[in-house]
Amino acid sequence: TPAAWIALPEIDAARRLGRGTATRALPTDIDDRTFFLAVPILIEFEVAGFVRVGMPLERLAARRRDLGRRVAAGASLSALIALALGFFFTRNHTRPLARIAEVCRQLATGDFTARVNARRPDEIGLVATTVDAMAADVQRRILAEQRERERLATLLAAMADGVIAVSARGTIAYINRVAAELLALDLAAATDAPVARWLTLPPILDLHQRARAESRRVSGEIRLQAHPHDRVLAVSATPLTDARDAAFGVLLVLHDLTELRRLEEVRRSFTANVSHELKTPLTAIAAIVSALLDDPGMPRPDRQRFLTRIAAQGDRLHELVNDLLVLARLESAAHLLERVPVDLDAIIALAHETFQPVAAQKNIALVAPAEPADLVVPGDREALRLIVNNLVHNAVAYTPPGGRVELHLRRAGDTAVIAVRDTGVGIAPEHLARIFERFYRVDPARDRTLGGSGLGLAIVKHLVQALDAHILVESTPGQGTTFTVQLNLTLPTP
Ligand code: ADP
Repeated sequence: TPAAWIALPEIDAARRLGRGTATRALPTDIDDRTFFLAVPILIEFEVAGFVRVGMPLERLAARRRDLGRRVAAGASLSALIALALGFFFTRNHTRPLARIAEVCRQLATGDFTARVNARRPDEIGLVATTVDAMAADVQRRILAEQRERERLATLLAAMADGVIAVSARGTIAYINRVAAELLALDLAAATDAPVARWLTLPPILDLHQRARAESRRVSGEIRLQAHPHDRVLAVSATPLTDARDAAFGVLLVLHDLTELRRLEEVRRSFTANVSHELKTPLTAIAAIVSALLDDPGMPRPDRQRFLTRIAAQGDRLHELVNDLLVLARLESAAHLLERVPVDLDAIIALAHETFQPVAAQKNIALVAPAEPADLVVPGDREALRLIVNNLVHNAVAYTPPGGRVELHLRRAGDTAVIAVRDTGVGIAPEHLARIFERFYRVDPARDRTLGGSGLGLAIVKHLVQALDAHILVESTPGQGTTFTVQLNLTLPTP
């Protein structure tokens, strides 16, 4: 080891300390310094020499920079990975939570079909399945409630009576179709409208008010004129109370009595008519009998005339009672009419034969069809005979002497048509619709002497209806009348 070397600081330090370092500029170093490391070589604990290595500092710095870069690169990569992982985990958790929130919002707005549908083994999965189960349960309950409400609405709508529920605020909470029709209200517009605006009918409002004020059911009968028809309604107003007895409205039930009252009126006037019709001949008979009794020595021709009048009144009574019986039978047993093949030519011929003498007596030409029409209908022989006879009887009765009554029978499509045409007094249009009513007479005084009971056409109408046939009447006052009966050639298929 040359002494000059020993003087080197790194060698010196290595000799003394076992390891030495130093940094200095070598003569060859430009802009740089060299780093030296020296360690002694020991042979049997004696310093045999030194190993010295030197490296320009620039190279070392470069190595450190390189290392630094590597460390930085490594750090950025791990940061990137960490970021990616974080993003993935956040997404994985916030997405389902957002979906759950969305479903809850949909449920809140009333869409109970919304579901999260997320199967996960974690807490989010648990929340999702709980929300779904809850939604399904709510949906089930709501559906059940809706079905119940619909059933109730159908029930109320199907009721034959009108139903109006008035809320405590005085608005129409519910009104069914029948009620709207009875009161001629617009169903859609009336619902939820203030009751005072729609039920402008004082009697109904009055009942509603009284039910509220007196907290009990009140009822009454009201008459509506031209609303749009005249109607009679039975109205009951019942206060509605909840489970705690608090009033929350009034239920109005409207029952249409129009038809019932009309029938009652018909029955009343029928009874009055029958009594009147019976009374007239009976009064006449009583008067004649009392005249006969008062005058035992009455001359024979007078007596004879009186007795003839009694006989005529007796016939009239007989006819009236007969017609009443026919009507009564028809009303209670119209369905008992037979449906057997009936030869219409024979019916027409029989009517012709029956009324020929009366017509001839009145100098009226009664004309039968020239040729048989060969028409057979399923019907009741007696009923058809009554129909034709009544029409011919009227035609002859309401045709003045010198007139003409024609009987027609022809086929029209699937029907047989019987027509009775006369050249008589005719019927004014205003009476045409009413002549089929019982006891209706165009001219009561004259028709009673001419015609019969006033029941003839009522019986005809009933018989025609019972046979599923149709009757038409055309008439020109002063010129004549034609009654047309249309009968099906085959039975209608049920
Ligand atoms: P009536 O027994 O009085 O004839 P109907 O019921 O048979 O009773 O007839 C009712 C009314 O119709 C008669 O009163 C009459 O005024 C009128 N009428 C019926 N048929 C004819 C006809 N062919 N011509 C004119 N008027 C008739």
